[in-house]
Amino acid sequence: MNSWQEILKPNEIVKDIHEIDFAQLKSRGIKALILDIDDTLIPRQVNDISPAVFEWVTTRKEEGFKLCLASNSRHPIRVKYIGDTLEVPAMALGFKPLPFAFWRSLKALGVKPEEAAMIGDQLFMDILGANLVKIYTIYVKHLTPETFLPRIWMRQAEEWLLNRI
Ligand SMILES: [Mg+2]
Repeated sequence: MNSWQEILKPNEIVKDIHEIDFAQLKSRGIKALILDIDDTLIPRQVNDISPAVFEWVTTRKEEGFKLCLASNSRHPIRVKYIGDTLEVPAMALGFKPLPFAFWRSLKALGVKPEEAAMIGDQLFMDILGANLVKIYTIYVKHLTPETFLPRIWMRQAEEWLLNRI
């Protein structure tokens, strides 16, 4: 496998956050979850947390996982509101795939890269960035259908790549 395929390849591909096998993650030594917000946790036009997502986060905490939110969002108030609602640290303006958001997340969580998993819907940001920092990666299908042409192209590029890696 080429190195470009290696750095874009998620360790797991799932339909959504509810499909992830957390017992399996624990057995791999994963102790902390870094979560993308938009189109991973909640659809990007939605500002509120659904009971299902709230329960999902609560269950992860009960299982002993540490959580934090790492978003590229340019709306820090929205990100803070979501983090405060879920009672987890939340960072906006992450500039993923640059490593800073991942480094900050690992620091906030107090874990090593190999003890963390990144869950996100964007191959070129969440997955690429976390792979570069050697964090376990879980790619989820985006929650919102794309209508904006550049985003449609990006999703087509993701599909194309995923079929080859
Ligand atoms: Mg996203």
